[in-house]
Amino acid sequence: MPERPRQPLELSRADLQALVESLGQPRYRGDQILAWLHGRDVLDPADMTDLPRTLRETLAAAWSPTPDSTVAEVAVSTDGTTRIDLSLHDAACTQTVLIPETPDDVEDEDDTPPPASAALPALPPLPVLPTPSPQPPIPWTRSTFTQCLSTQVGCAFGCAFCRSGSVGFVRHLSAGEILVQRHWARRTLAERGDIARTVVMGIGEPLHNLEALLAALRLLADPRAGGVSPRRITVSTIGLPEGIRRLGEEFEGRIGLAWSLHAADEETRRRLLPAASRRPVAEVVAALRAYPLPPRRRITVECVLVGGVNDSVHHARDVVRLLSGLRCKANLIPFNPWLGAKTDLAAPAVAAVEAYRETLAAAGISVFVRKPRGADVLAACGQLLGTSDGGRFPPPRDVGG
Ligand code: SF4
Repeated sequence: MPERPRQPLELSRADLQALVESLGQPRYRGDQILAWLHGRDVLDPADMTDLPRTLRETLAAAWSPTPDSTVAEVAVSTDGTTRIDLSLHDAACTQTVLIPETPDDVEDEDDTPPPASAALPALPPLPVLPTPSPQPPIPWTRSTFTQCLSTQVGCAFGCAFCRSGSVGFVRHLSAGEILVQRHWARRTLAERGDIARTVVMGIGEPLHNLEALLAALRLLADPRAGGVSPRRITVSTIGLPEGIRRLGEEFEGRIGLAWSLHAADEETRRRLLPAASRRPVAEVVAALRAYPLPPRRRITVECVLVGGVNDSVHHARDVVRLLSGLRCKANLIPFNPWLGAKTDLAAPAVAAVEAYRETLAAAGISVFVRKPRGADVLAACGQLLGTSDGGRFPPPRDVGG
């Protein structure tokens, strides 16, 4: 198969500067293009009105004016959580989720949020979607959202509670395919809201697709491009030490880090995270301790609690011991069941979650129980797949995790 040409959204600042120079233009034209692509979601060079006409015409001849992905479906939950299914250039699918922010999210912040950014510039009208599906009216007014990004189609790690891992690994997303999720999300929101936070917690293990992830984050966090403060971005990982080290080095610890721990003892981890448990938990903790966190920031430790598997006070005490001395806070996520999940997996009892929470809190760990969001449209944590019906996937590949 011929190699797919790089898409405008995945060109780095240096790439764009080299491109405009090769066309006889000054380097700052590259920054102007960056701002159009990532700051204003304008992909059509003909609409980049501060570029000289000749440059616009040259770029327009080489670039498609629209992304090479399409929105296949938009599903809105009764709580306002919005799942956007994307059909990619090879017809593989991935998903991104917009979660309306609540006061709880602000309580969960490490420190005071920065002032709200200026209003987004008006966006061009939405193109006609290929397979529009009827949707209920969106029940919210202008608001702020957290966007959850995916980094892969399928996932190699096969965590027992996770729908994304149930299909195996299909392929990595390119940096452009990660960033285009933001493009489509902002167009879907249009005047209804802004994206205030970005979490890389969707389909796939982000640090397994490290180079594309870093390239996407560089563009997202570049003030001349996406302009998103790194402190408003969190990458979630099951714990790949080399990726944690690279992420820490590249962004000097300013990108938030969330560790999907789920259980501290190796036996329960093997049951819940068969691939992740190949890395001893002590090795991951060492990588987390070396992460160059700025003052007042903490690593988020996530535990999906599965009834009767890892939700006892005994498990909570093991977690307390493991986290001793680590600058962290904990997020407890009651398991979100989905059709096709292993039958021995169940949501935890409310009392078990509370006892678990109290054990961590009594040990001085700041702990937060995440409410399920978007479960009615399969958009909650651990429920993403690629399509709402489990639709089209090329055959999975075994990459060994
Ligand atoms: S929880 Fe994350 S790493 Fe595990 S299978 Fe799901 S997407 Fe992959």
